[in-house]
Amino acid sequence: MPLVPLLPIFHKFNRQFFDGSLVKNDEPIVSIRWSDGRLKRTAGFYRRFYRISGKKGSEIVLSRPVLANLPESALGSTLCHEMIHAWIDLILKIKEVHGANFHRKMELINSSQAAFKVSIRHNYPLPSRPHKWWAICPICKARFPYHRIVKGVACRSCCNLHHGGSWDSTCLLIFESVLKEV
Ligand SMILES: [Zn+2]
Ligand SMILES: [Zn+2]
Repeated sequence: MPLVPLLPIFHKFNRQFFDGSLVKNDEPIVSIRWSDGRLKRTAGFYRRFYRISGKKGSEIVLSRPVLANLPESALGSTLCHEMIHAWIDLILKIKEVHGANFHRKMELINSSQAAFKVSIRHNYPLPSRPHKWWAICPICKARFPYHRIVKGVACRSCCNLHHGGSWDSTCLLIFESVLKEV
């Protein structure tokens, strides 16, 4: 899915599912934008923030790296999910995350169309972070990718093979930075 402009979809959903309540004087009451390339741990989120001027604002941010490679239904589902959060916060003015109001709206939206399904969690594959470390077994030389150094991990297969399955310090993995290889 290429990165499509979000505003037309927002306006369409606003009319279709929120009785137009998320737009005042032709302006969305919550801003919507694509993230930069760094938002990789979630498909999207809604948040309130304070501007430097002290004025309150709120926004929906959708993840460019997560959604760029997924079908368009993932965009619809994620945007709608975050619009429900905005609607509960700004229109109902209720403090709720995924409570009764969220569920009621979600089920209403899901039963009214078949193009996508809104869910409680964004269950999309997240791009994997490149690992920073290789943990290398000094005996069999097997390599395991790690994001950080973990103390005391030993090679399972060598412990099984040479020590009857019990942990042995001779099988301790040695951590080597991935960057060393270049
Ligand atoms: Zn949510
Ligand atoms: Zn080993």
